[in-house]
This record gives sequence, structure tokens and C-alpha cells, in this order.
Amino acid sequence: MIAMLALAIMACGSGESTAEAPPSSPDPSAEAPASPAPAPIATSPSSPQTPSMPIAPPGLTCLAKHFVGNVVQRGAGWALSLPDGTDLAWEDGTKKTFDTKMETPDLEDTLSIPYAKGPIAAVDEVNLDPGRIRNDALFKATFGATSSAVQAALVDVDFVGQAVKFNPRAATALGKVSTKLKALVAQTPSLSAYLTGELGGTFAWRPIANTTRMSVHSYGAAIDVVVAKSNYWEWEKGTNGELTWKNQIPQAIVDAFESEGFAWGGRWYHYDTMHFEYRPELFDSSCTP
Ligand SMILES: [Zn+2]
Repeated sequence: MIAMLALAIMACGSGESTAEAPPSSPDPSAEAPASPAPAPIATSPSSPQTPSMPIAPPGLTCLAKHFVGNVVQRGAGWALSLPDGTDLAWEDGTKKTFDTKMETPDLEDTLSIPYAKGPIAAVDEVNLDPGRIRNDALFKATFGATSSAVQAALVDVDFVGQAVKFNPRAATALGKVSTKLKALVAQTPSLSAYLTGELGGTFAWRPIANTTRMSVHSYGAAIDVVVAKSNYWEWEKGTNGELTWKNQIPQAIVDAFESEGFAWGGRWYHYDTMHFEYRPELFDSSCTP
């Protein structure tokens, strides 16, 4: 079991991702241009504006609701200006493969695969991994840039009777999931096998297995449920790397997480069914391309 858990820890970082928290800057002024931007910016087509006023891409405006940073115009393009002054381009003008999107995504790339809720279904389309394309700089700015910074901010959340550490931006959402799961377990006690006992865990500052990209576990914004009831592509891939999607996690558990903004690793071709990460932007229709 220890070996299995160790594998889970290595692996499940891979599910990756990020959880989210309430928008840090709901104030509309957060979308105003930073000082270098010369022109006023309308963030919605319905805003009063003159024809000459530039309109920020709706997806970028949406991302700014869920992560830190201000929408700014940079030359002919758009960016999210992070609190440390770094600009993250909305569209970097580079044509990318799936792999290069994973490695060096601009912000638009991170929303390029829509996430669909609903009945659990096998994922057999290669690289259909909604939510696995993440911009590390955006996550670090939002959730914590170092292991010590993230750890110092973690808070306790009661997850179906167990205390787990979680990022404060995502803790309220996880608490709501837990409340829903407890009600489900009360109705259907067999569900506890997936949720109580030996969990895969939450915070762990680490790269995703076999990559240099950070797992969302690094930010304390992802949780792995019971490993023994889970499937993970790295453990089960064929000799030529081919994948056959598998899952044991029941629909009701997935629904409870997704209803509070958690993306599930079972929606991925590169499946990781123990893994849930806080990604409210994936459930916000205004972020959809
Ligand atoms: Zn995980």
C-alpha cells in the first residue's frame, strides 16, 4: 500500500491542476488597463463605447475573474498583467501542437479544450484533456509561488470526516463538496469506500510525473480520493503507450465535485480518476472559446 501511495503521489500530481477560489478582484476596475495601456478598454460588447474603443477578448476578461491579474492591452494584443508586473499574453501568435501547448501555453490555449459535465463516458479521443493545459505562472501568481508560501497559507477543511489541508482560495468550494458528499454517503453508505480511509492527498509541491510542469497539488488546490478505487493512465498504458480509459468512481461523486467548480481527471484521455482540482474557469460559460 505504501508503494501504491507513493506511486499515487508521483502520479497524481499529474492529474494536475488547479483549484480555484473566489475571484480575487471582482471589482470592475481590475479590468482597467495598467498604466502603459493608452486607450480605455471596454470589457463587454454591451458596454457603452465608441467604435474606436478596443474590446478585450471575453475569455481573457473571464480568466481575470478567477485568477489574479489585470486585463491590459499590449500593442495589437492583450495580456493579463500579474501583480509582480509580468505580462501573460492572451495570444502569443505561435502555432502549437498539443505537446507545445502543454509546455508553453498562452492564456487562450488554456481554454482551448472545453470541459463538459454530464454522464460519465469513456474518453477515447487522443489528447482530449480539458483542463490539463495550464499556465504555471498564472497558477503561481494566484495560489502561491513557492512551496513555503503555499504551505503557510493552507487551511484545514473537513473532507467527509477527515481534516485535509487546502488552499484558502479553494477551501470554501471543497467544504461545499464535502457537505454534498456526506449527504450522499448517508443515503448510500457504499460510497464511503471512495471517500474515506486512505486518501491520495491534497498538498504536495511537485512537478507532474515525467514533466517539469507543476501539479495542481503543488498549490493545495487538488485532492485525490481513495487511490485503491482509482485508475491512472500512467499505471495502465499499453506497451506502445496506447491508453484504454477506465474508471470506478461513481457519477454522484463526480457530480458533487463538478457542481462546485472542480474538474475531474476522469474527463481526460490521460485519465486520473482519483483526481479533482479546483478550476472554476472551466465551468464559467463566459470563459468558453
Ligand atoms: Zn491528483
